[in-house]
Amino acid sequence: MVTHVIYGGDYNPEQWTPEVWEEDARLMQEAGVNRVSLGIFAWVKMEPAPGQYDFTWLDQVIDLLHAHGVQVNLATPTASPPPWLIRLHPEILPVTADGVTLWHGSRRHYCPHSRAYREYASRLVTALAEHYQNHPAISLWHIDNEYSCHENGCFCDASVEAFRQWLQKRHGTLENLNKAWGTAFWSQTYTDWQEIQAPKRTPAFINPSQKLDWERFCSDSWIDCFEDQKVILRRTTPNIPITTNFMNFHRSLDYWKLAAAENIVSLDCYPDTSLPDWRVESGMGWDMMRSLGGGRPWLLMEQAPTHVNWRQRNTTKRPGIMRLGSYQALAHGSDGIMFFQWRASVAGAEKFHSAMLPHVGTDSRVWREITSLGGELQKLDEVLSSRVQAETAILFDWENWWALEGQAKVSNDIRLLPQVKAIYTELFQRNISVDFAHPESDLSRYRLVIAPHVYLVSERSAKNIDQYVAQGGTLLMTFFSGIVDDNDHVRAGHMPVPFSNLLGLWIEEFVAYAEAQTNVVEAANGQGYPCELWSDIIRLTGAEVLGHYREDYFAGSPAITRHRYGKGTSYYLGTELARDGLAWLLDQACAEAGVRPVLEAPPGVEVTSRSNGTHTWLFVLNHSDVEAWVKLPAPATDLISGSRVESLMQLGARQVAILRLS
Ligand SMILES: [Zn+2]
Repeated sequence: MVTHVIYGGDYNPEQWTPEVWEEDARLMQEAGVNRVSLGIFAWVKMEPAPGQYDFTWLDQVIDLLHAHGVQVNLATPTASPPPWLIRLHPEILPVTADGVTLWHGSRRHYCPHSRAYREYASRLVTALAEHYQNHPAISLWHIDNEYSCHENGCFCDASVEAFRQWLQKRHGTLENLNKAWGTAFWSQTYTDWQEIQAPKRTPAFINPSQKLDWERFCSDSWIDCFEDQKVILRRTTPNIPITTNFMNFHRSLDYWKLAAAENIVSLDCYPDTSLPDWRVESGMGWDMMRSLGGGRPWLLMEQAPTHVNWRQRNTTKRPGIMRLGSYQALAHGSDGIMFFQWRASVAGAEKFHSAMLPHVGTDSRVWREITSLGGELQKLDEVLSSRVQAETAILFDWENWWALEGQAKVSNDIRLLPQVKAIYTELFQRNISVDFAHPESDLSRYRLVIAPHVYLVSERSAKNIDQYVAQGGTLLMTFFSGIVDDNDHVRAGHMPVPFSNLLGLWIEEFVAYAEAQTNVVEAANGQGYPCELWSDIIRLTGAEVLGHYREDYFAGSPAITRHRYGKGTSYYLGTELARDGLAWLLDQACAEAGVRPVLEAPPGVEVTSRSNGTHTWLFVLNHSDVEAWVKLPAPATDLISGSRVESLMQLGARQVAILRLS
């Protein structure tokens, strides 16, 4: 439970002298910083030689910070094993699918299955936790850093052996495994566990079920590494919450599983603010983080004060944009704003990444914006722990993502995130709050559930979605859903087999479009909406038609349908609609479900709300370059300016208001 909005950043005192630490502590106080993340990459400084731990320097830093009112997210520095450890145990280094060893000299150069790595990491974490177990400055454990950020699985011998053990647990017998992987195909049947390999480089397409199990296994392996450390920290410091920093929609790690193992979800978020839709991408990430934590407040662990250094051209956040993005995180349920990093490095691969305290020092725009925001956040304590309530959910499942984007599909241009983003964008622009939900989770609290490309569905999720509609929910499902089971085997028959009743239709044929091929959907409102990529050829068994194709050999056949099912309604979209068409369809579904915007606002003005049962706060963000007038539902008090606002509020370009409604 925090009492002030968390504000600060990653701090790497190991790069600086004690004189600089003093200056840092003073400047942090000046900037309103109340939290830093410490030690993230400090393994060699904490353990300069095997088993020789040195925390004296860290004691000094933490005591100094604490004396200046700064609390600490203490990191376990296990994301970058020191060179001495690699010299002793070169088998720690990860190996790619092509058999190439990835060397040290960078970071995250470890195999999650290396026994030596896991043992050294556990011993260091134990020593660190025991040393700091009673220190009042430690507020949060920050385990490792950005799990699986650069690696896409390790293919070394130890990893292959671990994969076999994982498969034995999942499938029990070789017979089951052969069945699950469909190994009758291409003479792939296994007669001994030792024959099983990681999906290394092969001449042609790898077995898709094998690949899917490998992705599950790799994700589970990182979670195992997290759990190793969590067990130690829980035992030593049962009252200090635990997190590990996520990276938005990061494909190789099942964040639903990992989030369930942590106390607070935290995010590193680096939108490219030179792109017009950066705020949509950010919003999508924020909403995913809130959803991963079951609606609890989350923490923005890292963002850039201005530019990053890892794109080809690293554009600045223009004046006011950092502030706007920060408030957007709060608007979507964060209880804190943190940055990478506090003081700009002068050496190393991130020396040109921006920092709260830039190379040029305090006489700078960046520093002024940082200190100004730090001051403003001190007025917002009352919104802490309040929650965002969404009536709409988008289904999202990592296993589906892996399976959908495997090789050798009818169209390999069906991608999950672009579809999710297209839908999210429309809802975002209407100021409709959105949660993300696992398809097996309780959906009953949502008026509208959107299921984009739910290609892989387990029996449980199929039943769950069916029940949701039968009991009165409104569903919008998009094409190539319900196609395979959780072994990535086709559910043959009247597709989508698990949803055919629910949708009141079946699909006779998939039509993948050539590049640049398009069609038009004649919608029930008389409009023609362009579509591309794909057409399902739909046969109706009860659904009504809301739109049909204008052209091609399937002209006149249904493209968009609606079906009453039980107490609810299901919509189905059998093609990729361009923007206007998707907007129209979402308007139909929202109206049917009774989903309303948080507030009607002019274009470019985002509005969200947070409540705590007693109070409701509206977060109004003017992303546009012109002033906007916003009509409020009731008089309110703006926490930032302190002023009373009557029913009509004027908001300047890129300005923010946080309104406590009367
Ligand atoms: Zn390995």
